Amino acid sequence: MLTFQRFTLGALQTNAYVLIDASRTRAAVIDPGTPDAALLRRLEGLKVEAILLTHAHFDHIGGVDDLRRRFGCPVYLHALEKDWLGDPVKNGSARWTDVTGPIAAGVPDVYFEDGQKLELLGETFEVLHTPGHSPGSVGLLCGDLLFAGDALFRRSVGRTDLPGGNADALARSIREKLYVLPDGVIVLPGHGPETTIGEEKRENPYVRA
Ligand SMILES: [Zn+2]
Ligand SMILES: [Zn+2]
Repeated sequence: MLTFQRFTLGALQTNAYVLIDASRTRAAVIDPGTPDAALLRRLEGLKVEAILLTHAHFDHIGGVDDLRRRFGCPVYLHALEKDWLGDPVKNGSARWTDVTGPIAAGVPDVYFEDGQKLELLGETFEVLHTPGHSPGSVGLLCGDLLFAGDALFRRSVGRTDLPGGNADALARSIREKLYVLPDGVIVLPGHGPETTIGEEKRENPYVRA
């Protein structure tokens, strides 16, 4: 069975997730926001097979090139944000000068597509394109785990005032792609604590089911 560990990184307290396969030999990393010694220690001795980005805001990508260099693994991102890794204006780091210097990383290696089924770590991950917080935001569904990025949080949703953000699109993404999932699906967001689809359908004040 897939296991995961959360690492909360950087000034914006972004959640990175280390995923580990059933044999405890292979790993993938979701949203490595900044290089981090504890996260690196967790990867020691494992074959790291992928870096998966829910979107390309700077607080999710600062550790990308360090990991890619160390492990030689591909970086996955939606094509709508393919230019963002290398562009501090697009990834937002040029604007948050009080919390970060300019952040840049090399181009992605693989592009996510909506509805795609990825075989990774002996599991199937379904890609759910959920634009609104950013145009290329995706959620990654593996069994009853949803790595949701910054689309849906516990009792909140992602902001939509950044470049390419769209509040109507976000509400539509949440209703049509996330709230249709089983109530028991565990939502692992880009910031803050986990929740479930059922809880958010009942309690989320921003997007009603
Ligand atoms: Zn974001
Ligand atoms: Zn974020």
